[in-house]
Formats: sequence, C-alpha cells, structure tokens
Amino acid sequence: MTAFVIGNVTEDLLFGLPRLPRPGETLIAGRRLSDLGGKGLNQAVILSRAGCPTCLLAPVGDDEVATRARALAEAEIGDARLLDMGGASDQSIICVAEDGENHIVSSAFAADALRPDRIRRALSDLGPGDVVVVQGNLSFETTRAALQAARLGGAATVANPSPIRWPWTDLYPLVDLVIVNRAELSELGGSDDIATAVARLKAAGAREVVVTLGAKGAEFHGDDGVIRAPAVPVRTVDTAGAGDTFCGILVAARQAGLSPEAAMAAAARAAALTVGRAGTYSAFPGPSEIYNILHERAGAP
Ligand code: ATP
Repeated sequence: MTAFVIGNVTEDLLFGLPRLPRPGETLIAGRRLSDLGGKGLNQAVILSRAGCPTCLLAPVGDDEVATRARALAEAEIGDARLLDMGGASDQSIICVAEDGENHIVSSAFAADALRPDRIRRALSDLGPGDVVVVQGNLSFETTRAALQAARLGGAATVANPSPIRWPWTDLYPLVDLVIVNRAELSELGGSDDIATAVARLKAAGAREVVVTLGAKGAEFHGDDGVIRAPAVPVRTVDTAGAGDTFCGILVAARQAGLSPEAAMAAAARAAALTVGRAGTYSAFPGPSEIYNILHERAGAP
C-alpha cells in the first residue's frame, strides 16, 4: 500500500509583497523566506506525515540544495530516492500578496533531465494497492512512463497537472483521479464552466476529477455526482502549499479507506492549516495535526 510520488524538488524563495507586481514593475518585499519545496517533495511529505508508506522519486542537481533536500527527505519520507542529475537543483520564486494570492515561477532543468527509463526501472515492482502520484513538473514522456508503469502493475494513479507544461489529453486514460485548481481546469477543459470542463476531462478518459476552488472549497466529481467540501475559514497568511496539502491528504485518506466525503473534508481542514501559516514546507501541518484530522479528534483544527 505504498504511494509512489514521481515529482520535483525545488529551493523556494518566497517574497511577501503588498500586492502582486504588474508587468514591468519592481516591488520591494516586506518579508523573505527560503524553504525547500517542489510539488513532488511537498506531496510526499504530506503523504508520509499522514501515515501513508511513501516513496519519493525526484530529480535534483549536484549542489548544496540537493544535500539539504536529501537530508530533509530522508528524515521525513520512508523511501526517499533523490536522483542526481548533475548541475543545479531546480528553484521556484514565489511572490505572495497580502491577500494570500501568489505567483510562482520555477525552473525545471533537473526535472527535464529525468528520463523515462529511470522511472520504469524504479517502478517495476508496483502492485495493486499501491498508488502513483504525478504532477506537471517532469517531462511528458517521463510522466507518461510513470502512469504506464502504474497501469502495468495494477496500481492506482493520481495526477495533479500543475504546472501545465504540455497537453494532458493523451494521459487521461491512464489517470484514475485528476486533482486541479480552478484556473488549471479552465485551461485543460477549455471552458470556465466547471461542469463542462470536468465533463471534457472525463470524456477524454479521466475517471474522477477533484477541482479545488481556493477559499470557495473543493468539488469531487466521481461516478455518483458531485461532493462539495467547503473551505475551512482561516486567517489567510499565504496560500502557497495549500494545493499540495490538499492533494497529499486526499490521496492518503483514500488509501486509508476513507469515503470521498470524509477524504475531501480532511483535505480541506489540513489545507486551511497551511493557508494560515507562512511558507510552503514550513507551513505544512505536522503528523499529530494530520492524525487528529484523519481521525476526527475533538478539538482538531
Ligand atoms: P496553491 O496556492 O498551493 O498553488 P492551488 O491553487 O493548487 O493552491 P487552491 O484551490 O488555491 O489550490 O487551494 C486548495 C485548497 O486549499 C482549497 O480547496 C481549500 O480547501 C484550501 N484553501 C485555499 N485557500 C483557502 C483559504 N483562503 N481559506 C481556507 N482554505 C483555503
């Protein structure tokens, strides 16, 4: 019952700004924070903290960021395989406005250097009960290889197609659960209407679709209609990492056998904790907070 996360690792530089910059504008940051991140590392950390046996397969460079990432991943994740691609590790610049909105720019040099054969070899012993989780940072070929390996081994698949770097259409038949935010859904589904866009992803082969709507919560579009999970009210500090928290908890909860309703509610509660704190990795809920959420302990946030 292992979750294999195939994704990226970055060094995140986060700048807190009064508002997001306009084209051509330079703003002075009121706060600056450096954190390890990347959607692969983030989601693997959350899955692991949720008690799900987790394997992270992620490309890094040959530098000080890779050394720090290795130490963190080995401390947090049962099976952390950070693959040395040489050169510099990838980075993200995250601008966070006072209202919590963000802009993110990432490099993907190490991510692009990871080739499909390395993933095929690493995933050759998958089995039913396992789940493969991918995001949008790696190349199309490598992402497809991960999903194909999952199908071959009878494992479930989850895709969080962010950032959108290439068309996903050919991959939907390989995906059991797609988790997207509102903007990504509009782009992938070619419509601002949620029902229309979701129907298009499903028609292309995706089995279930979860749409996250920021402060408006999230919707699960499964076989039996739509399940809504309202956002948990919180004082917004910065929303960076909310999506990864939501994905990680949703997958861990489903792996643990929770119903879609319970899994969505747990994901919303955990994501609200991340929204209420600064940073990405450093904002994530801890293992005991996640335990309380998954077991609906009285007094849980
Ligand atoms: P990220 O900022 O990490 O890129 P995202 O765009 O992938 O996030 P969102 O839809 O913004 O994803 O947020 C994911 C989930 O986090 C939401 O469905 C919701 O449950 C929670 N969330 C986001 N923003 C807020 C908020 N302001 N208040 C409470 N919960 C929130």
